[in-house]
Amino acid sequence: MVKSAYIHIPFCKSKCHYCSFISFDKLELKKDYLKKLEQEINTYYSGEILNTLYFGGGTPSILEVEEFANIIAHFNMSKDTEVTAELNPDGHYGKDEISQGLTFAYLRGLYDVGINRISLGAQTFDDDLLKQINRRHNSKQIIQAVENAQKAGFRNISLDFIYGLPNQSAGMFFDDLQKAIKLGVQHISLYGLSIEEGCYFYNHNPQNLPDDDEQADMYLGAIELLTSNGFEHYEISNFSLPDYNSKHNLNYWNNEEYYGFGVAAHGYTNDIRYGNKETIEDYIQNPTDHKFEKFETQKDKLEEEIFLGLRKMSGIDIQKINNKFNIDFENKYLIALKKYEGLNLLKKTKQGYAFTPNGVLVSNTILSEFID
Ligand code: SF4
Repeated sequence: MVKSAYIHIPFCKSKCHYCSFISFDKLELKKDYLKKLEQEINTYYSGEILNTLYFGGGTPSILEVEEFANIIAHFNMSKDTEVTAELNPDGHYGKDEISQGLTFAYLRGLYDVGINRISLGAQTFDDDLLKQINRRHNSKQIIQAVENAQKAGFRNISLDFIYGLPNQSAGMFFDDLQKAIKLGVQHISLYGLSIEEGCYFYNHNPQNLPDDDEQADMYLGAIELLTSNGFEHYEISNFSLPDYNSKHNLNYWNNEEYYGFGVAAHGYTNDIRYGNKETIEDYIQNPTDHKFEKFETQKDKLEEEIFLGLRKMSGIDIQKINNKFNIDFENKYLIALKKYEGLNLLKKTKQGYAFTPNGVLVSNTILSEFID
């Protein structure tokens, strides 16, 4: 039974310099897009009570409160359903196109229509760095957004940060995290800057990037700082106070099925992984036609179970894997397990295996040994 749904809102008013996500500034297509999104939901959603619903982007905060409400009304939920919206701190724009930040009225509206978790793309509190990466907000707007959200009733607030930015020192990054802790948020996600083809930085070669060793020091220092302040490091990039793990993301890492709705959204239902059309125009023409579909073999499922499961700091449960796939995990992967345990990059846990903090730094190399 599918228990999670992801909804992609593919609009952004401008492009951040590190971003290669699928997003467009064609706001004039928003109304048509939302109509087609409803058509896709009506076609595929079978009425299960959802554990999680997640609005990602792009920029979901481009939607009006009523537009969120219309989409939410399509789903069956319980009082425990986690409903997350990713929001940008520059928020919401009036008809005059001036940023209004994330106002109390807007956030209270979101809370009243059932959104109970927000994830803010803070990235850093350093105003110069925010300009250099072409974010539209400033540090004051992040603080206002968190304070307004707290006043509006939100008790589950997440902030995203990027480390390894041009001209960013470890001290500057740790200062960002201290400010986040002080604001009293429940969840923090950290992403190392990675410059992929298609983004502005890829073509414009930013100067003064911290090297790999400095990035590694930032990551390891962040683990120490956050865990010593009561945060659980529960996934490679994610930290939360007790009981505030992201249920939606845990669904992915537990290799469970989910719906993906909207442009370029990916989903996994009835043993099929699928991806949607990647331009708004193509999607509007036929929102129920997937760009690709791939049937998952047992081998695919096993590899994904390992690949995704090891992202969790609690690691994988080998008894569960042995039962599910009818294998002897430790025998099948004996060489890789011994090698990385010996190097102190993987560790044995009560239930199976997990990365050590140093193992996380080379996780891609280790994971490649579990995949044919
Ligand atoms: S990083 Fe987020 S806000 Fe910035 S352009 Fe990409 S999708 Fe839009």
